[in-house]
Amino acid sequence: MEVTFLGSGNAFASGGRYWSSFLVDRRYLFDAPPTLLAHLKQLNVDLPEIETVFLSHHHADHFVGLPFLLLEYLYMTKRTKDLYIVGPPGVEEWMEDFASRCYPELHAKEAGYKRKYVDAIHGEAQRAGNLNFRPFHMNHVTKTMQAMGYQVRINGKTIAYTGDTMFCEEIFQLADGADVLVVDCTYSDGSGPEHMGLDDVKVIRKRISPETTMVLTHLSEVPVTNGLANTLIAQDLATFRF
Ligand SMILES: [Zn+2]
Ligand SMILES: [Zn+2]
Repeated sequence: MEVTFLGSGNAFASGGRYWSSFLVDRRYLFDAPPTLLAHLKQLNVDLPEIETVFLSHHHADHFVGLPFLLLEYLYMTKRTKDLYIVGPPGVEEWMEDFASRCYPELHAKEAGYKRKYVDAIHGEAQRAGNLNFRPFHMNHVTKTMQAMGYQVRINGKTIAYTGDTMFCEEIFQLADGADVLVVDCTYSDGSGPEHMGLDDVKVIRKRISPETTMVLTHLSEVPVTNGLANTLIAQDLATFRF
């Protein structure tokens, strides 16, 4: 499994890092930050081959790049295969509304492919195209929106992604059986608010399987992970192979 980070930073682009997002096997996208299209092109990704986009929640650093990709499919790079977009319940309504405010022709013009939305349901075994996945509720700004983590089976391996979250028990369901766990580590020490920090990462590392590789992302600063086994730190445009 090949995991390529488009960005590794928090909402404030701290340290000049791009907003956190990653691509698996050049086909499966986890979050769609503002820089999405530029980074996919820098990485020479074959754009019509992108099959599924998992959106963790509708904070701008995680989804506002998608209309640019849809615009690309409308004018520049022909796509015919269905595009699956998975997100918290109601994702179709808010994503289509947002996209049509960005570029009204995304609704008005025939694009030649279908966008197929899947509402993520906590704990359910679900499918998007040929992918099996399981979403879990995460603990992030729960008063204003729902944030989801995803456990996804891709080409014989399992990757899990917390999206943005504070420490919560659901992380252990999410990590169960995962080969790779991509984790919100916004704070280089301590814990919270709204996100996890290195103290949370240490607790997770102790409780999950030693076989699961953790990758820390959504960074404010680069954390010092000395002594934490099997734990990597995401970097902008870096590819990890598992
Ligand atoms: Zn974020
Ligand atoms: Zn967020």
